[in-house]
Amino acid sequence: MTSILVEAENAVRMGRVRLHVFKPSGRRRWVVVGRHGEYLVLPEAGYCSCPDFFFRVMSGEKPTCYHLVAVKLAIERKQFNIVEKDDAEHDQLMEHWLKGETPKEKEQ
Ligand SMILES: [Zn+2]
Repeated sequence: MTSILVEAENAVRMGRVRLHVFKPSGRRRWVVVGRHGEYLVLPEAGYCSCPDFFFRVMSGEKPTCYHLVAVKLAIERKQFNIVEKDDAEHDQLMEHWLKGETPKEKEQ
C-alpha cells in the first residue's frame, strides 16, 4: 500500500490528475496521465481503466491502483487540472481512455 500512496502523491504533485469538463453538457471525466497512457477513473464507482486494475485489483491481488488513489487525493486537496473539451470529442476520448491510450491532438 505504501508504494501506491507514494505513486498517487507523485501523480497529484506532478499535475497528472485531470478533470475534463465537456461543453455544453457539463459531463465530467477524471483522467490520470500514467507512464504508458491515460486512464479513465470513476472515483465513486471505484473503477480505473488501467491494466493493473483489470489484472490485479479485480482479482483481489491488490486493494486498488494508484490512479484511483490519486484522483481521490486530488479531489480532497482540490489539486487537479481542469481541461475543457467539446461534447463532440467525448466519445472518441472515452474510447482512448478506456484502452489506456493517450489521445492524439485533434488535427486543425
Ligand atoms: Zn489505475
